[in-house]
Amino acid sequence: MKSLNPRCELKQHLQELFKKWQNLWDNGNTGRSVLKVLKTVDVKPVFWTSEDILFVTGHGPFPSFLNRFHLSDSDSCACGEVGDHIHYATSCPLALSWHIRKPSTSLESLWYQRVLENPNSRKGIINMIKFIIDNENIIRL
Ligand SMILES: [Zn+2]
Repeated sequence: MKSLNPRCELKQHLQELFKKWQNLWDNGNTGRSVLKVLKTVDVKPVFWTSEDILFVTGHGPFPSFLNRFHLSDSDSCACGEVGDHIHYATSCPLALSWHIRKPSTSLESLWYQRVLENPNSRKGIINMIKFIIDNENIIRL
């Protein structure tokens, strides 16, 4: 019969695993936009809507994302700028109704957190993404 490890030994092992996971998260190559919002690894779920996920990851109906995976010939918006999620949320004249203030580079993490905490900003993001999906042929170059 195999003996069980003492509780403190298991706890120490879990702490080492979390430390290793955090190191991989901090120094990895993928998920860098999500790192701006979720700085620490955790097993607790994050309750984001699908639009929140599209917005934070930049993975969605945005020309820059579609172009990255060769699903579109151009990464540009119809207005001529690079069509990424930040462009539509902050500066695209075609999505003017749902604009939120553009973050400074140094405050980008805080900006994402504030947007996700603010019900009006989240509602704007949802409507912006629905607009992009519904008007795909208008917003792409
Ligand atoms: Zn645009």
